[in-house]
Amino acid sequence: MERGTHRCSVHGCPSLASYEVMLYDFDPVEGAVAFVQDASCPTICVEHAIANERMAQGQRLPHHVIAYPYTNRERVPGVNIYLELEPALV
Ligand SMILES: [Zn+2]
Repeated sequence: MERGTHRCSVHGCPSLASYEVMLYDFDPVEGAVAFVQDASCPTICVEHAIANERMAQGQRLPHHVIAYPYTNRERVPGVNIYLELEPALV
């Protein structure tokens, strides 16, 4: 991913993204691992990442669905992980 030029994916947010949003899941029955970019919200700013975690509903248990306010709109099992983007070169 090209760094430093992405906007926050939250609708209407004018801020530059600080993180790439990933979705991680481990299925404790099958042993399957998923670690993919969250297509429903691929990048996010600091403020929205903090709000996203503070307002998330549900237990962070393996293969559980967590209701995040801004990410994982498709409500697939797993937890969101934020990978820090490098700041834009100015
Ligand atoms: Zn934002």
